[in-house]
Amino acid sequence: MSAFLFDPPPRPSLAVDDLAERYPVARIFCVGRNYEQHARETGHAVDREKPFYFSKSATALGESGATLPYPQGTANYHFEFELVVALGASARAISVADALGVVYGYACGLDMTRRDLQLSERAKQRPWTLGKDVEASAPVSAIAPAARIGHPRSGRIELRQNGIARQSADIGEMAWSVADIVSHLSGFYHLGPGDLIFTGTPAGVGPVQPGDRLEGTIAGVGALSVTIGPPA
Ligand code: MN
Repeated sequence: MSAFLFDPPPRPSLAVDDLAERYPVARIFCVGRNYEQHARETGHAVDREKPFYFSKSATALGESGATLPYPQGTANYHFEFELVVALGASARAISVADALGVVYGYACGLDMTRRDLQLSERAKQRPWTLGKDVEASAPVSAIAPAARIGHPRSGRIELRQNGIARQSADIGEMAWSVADIVSHLSGFYHLGPGDLIFTGTPAGVGPVQPGDRLEGTIAGVGALSVTIGPPA
């Protein structure tokens, strides 16, 4: 076995409810514009033909209780609170009817976004990398296994900023269901255990400041809380 030139970076992973073992993370896919009211607040409509995606590096993951540094290169850092799907089996061109069978569990996640850069990139028809693939921009709660909670099709999703409700919707309002997304995405990737999918955010996204506390809950899934730290 060959030695590495330097110590490999630690493998990103998430806690699992009631288990000592951790869930090793491979990739993070994110769905854009999956709630009609949020699509409208960004000046768009949901694309009913097909979902669309961007991705984040798995190294952007964090855990509940974390302090997220306010990132460099932005003056408009936004929260987007989302249902996260954690896959537990492989899937290639899987049908909608079979798609939930490869889901290991669900979690609460924040898709933190440099909104100023995302919008300027979008206006120039450039990729959203600088806006979305931000260091420490993907804190995720412990995973609730589907074997325990089932596959939630509805339930309140709420995000509070310093105790004030900012996002409040129902995951049943998603234009593309978890099964739709897993099926569609599996037509482009050999999905597998360790892949996470952020399923999009409801309306009410907004900017954070250092010192802010963000607390999110999804009924039947779990809760996530983070603090925004000083610029780093
Ligand atoms: Mn998002």
